[in-house]
Amino acid sequence: MSRHIVITGASSGIGAACARAFHAQGDRLSLGARRVERLPEVVPEAFCHALDVTDRDSVEGFVAAAIAANGPIDVLVNNAGLARGTEKIAEGTGEAWREMIETNVLGLLEVTRRVLPHMIENGGGHVVVIGSIAGHKAYVGGGVYCGSKRALQPICEAIRMETLGRNVRVTSVDPGMVDTEFSLVRFSGDRERAQKVYEGTRPLVADDVADCVLFAANRPQHVNLDTIVVMPTDQANPYMVHRAPQQ
Ligand code: NAP
Repeated sequence: MSRHIVITGASSGIGAACARAFHAQGDRLSLGARRVERLPEVVPEAFCHALDVTDRDSVEGFVAAAIAANGPIDVLVNNAGLARGTEKIAEGTGEAWREMIETNVLGLLEVTRRVLPHMIENGGGHVVVIGSIAGHKAYVGGGVYCGSKRALQPICEAIRMETLGRNVRVTSVDPGMVDTEFSLVRFSGDRERAQKVYEGTRPLVADDVADCVLFAANRPQHVNLDTIVVMPTDQANPYMVHRAPQQ
């Protein structure tokens, strides 16, 4: 049966891969991102709407428009997120920190608090959160990004407790290194620096993470996968990556 899937940050990377994968199995999609012009290129049949998760009016408008276009929301994929820079705490200016926390934590909360009551009213649903291995293990220069992802763990736990008995599933999908635009964004468009992150190693691709999201979403309603940690075989933790020697 076709479900209504809402995906935040569907204009690239993991969000776009999830959109393509849900579409391929016949689900209806509502996609949001700031670069709204990219969304119809991801899935031409999807309902596409501008979304900035850091702007409350934008979130309100997006959720209302998605429901109006596609009806009750069955699955919310909270994917929109970013890292900015690799400042150590003592070197921080605060701006990048605010952007990460406003996007990764507050933005996710703003979307979720508008979708959850609607799911409860409609008999249940599934909230998927794209966390990160960074939420399990910190690394130098990643304190605030890691903190923003760690924060998603108690948020997921609390939602599970607060919606107990209401047929709401909550899954955190926490990847290691994935080759997307993530590093390009982190290094403010510096392509060379971004490419170095993936040099000599084999990272995950966005479709690998989408596979995990679909696996969780396609379990029967009584089965909740709490957390899926998915790593490249060549990565042991955020700072231990196997790289083949360069020729
Ligand atoms: P990406 O290719 O840069 O995609 C990020 C997406 O988030 C884009 O579609 C972007 O869309 C959207 N986004 C960012 N800020 C937003 C905002 N304020 N409002 C709405 N959408 C916003 O990177 P990705 O790797 O696919 O990242 C997706 C998620 O995976 C993030 O939460 C990231 O933290 C997580 N993750 C990534 C990795 C990795 O190694 N790549 C590892 C673990 C976890 P617009 O710019 O068009 O708004």
